Amino acid sequence: MRVGVVGAGIAGLAAARHLAANGSEVVVFESATHVGGRCATLTLGAYTFDPGATSIVPRGREIERVMLEELDSTDLVKIDTPVYTHDGRRVFHGAGLPPTARYCYKQGMRTLAELLAIGLHVETGKRVETIEAPSDGGFSLLEQTFEALVLTVPMTEAMRLMSQIGDVRRANNTRYRPCLSVLLGLDKDFHTPYHAVVAEESVHPLHWLSIENIKVPGRAPAGHTALVVQLGPKYSKWNFDASDDSIVEDALVDVERVLGPGFDRPVVQHIVRWRESQPDSVSGFESMNPPGSKLVVAGDGLEGGRIEHAYDSGIKAAKLLIGP
Ligand SMILES: Cc1cc2nc3c(=O)[nH]c(=O)nc-3n(C[C@H](O)[C@H](O)[C@H](O)COP(=O)(O)OP(=O)(O)OC[C@H]3O[C@@H](n4cnc5c(N)ncnc54)[C@H](O)[C@@H]3O)c2cc1C
Repeated sequence: MRVGVVGAGIAGLAAARHLAANGSEVVVFESATHVGGRCATLTLGAYTFDPGATSIVPRGREIERVMLEELDSTDLVKIDTPVYTHDGRRVFHGAGLPPTARYCYKQGMRTLAELLAIGLHVETGKRVETIEAPSDGGFSLLEQTFEALVLTVPMTEAMRLMSQIGDVRRANNTRYRPCLSVLLGLDKDFHTPYHAVVAEESVHPLHWLSIENIKVPGRAPAGHTALVVQLGPKYSKWNFDASDDSIVEDALVDVERVLGPGFDRPVVQHIVRWRESQPDSVSGFESMNPPGSKLVVAGDGLEGGRIEHAYDSGIKAAKLLIGP
């Protein structure tokens, strides 16, 4: 079967990999210039940041076996420092999240997507604007024809594309929250027994703070620090279009309250604006994709906003097309 997959995030790559391994001819279309989607990595000067997913906590789901047994695990890092909590002023040395295996890759989270993409036909820089369903069957997009399609783009985009061919399926339960990720490279040495702190936004707008070079050594030069500051959904919603400088200024005030003084002059600063960062609620893969569908929708918006769920949804999409 010839299958087109739209989106080269973890869901799209999982679907494409499973389909290709079982004899399908697969083409993956990705609008960005690289694979990974929200499993992203950005290098700015001498600092390396993961502005989207910061780590993988598979809790025994399929992606863990794939990472450990199928993919090259040379650069796979098991993070050995915990996550603590904060209340906006102090860090609590109690465990913020239950201890469980937490992974990342040495060069960044995007490595996972790059490893999944090995051997696949991925066309990057190809945004799918329209899809058609010719009367003689199948689908066409970007001047190519396919017997089946897998859409792994965010649900709003999936519904936009499906409506073009009269497909009225709705992922109405999927609601994504926004997130401003502030990336800061600092000329300051900083040592903590934890690699990240987390708080509920009701307590503080600083939701998640990751010290990238403690998470994975080597992410910043010696004597420097690479921070990812994820601001909570309320702050991110109201300040989404604010200037970079004002967001960085707010983030630095929050960081200094939690970590102490000395973070006021970043060497590098950058903001990644995720309008649809992670879903707060999902629509359910099975309710969206009845048996026999030749156009299958997958992605974290159907299974849960985590890498391991995105992966599972891609595999489910492939199995719906070719059987278990
Ligand atoms: C700030 C943040 C923090 C997170 N933290 C974690 C974490 O710590 N751990 C964890 O497990 N998960 C985390 N997540 C969630 C995780 O990143 C996602 O659940 C997962 O990466 C989603 O994968 P996906 O394939 O479903 O979607 P995506 O990664 O969004 O992939 C969809 C792809 O489709 C492409 N695309 C969109 N429209 C088109 C089009 N029209 N044509 C072609 N291509 C298109 C996009 O460019 C993208 O590459 C986080 C996410 C964010 C944003």
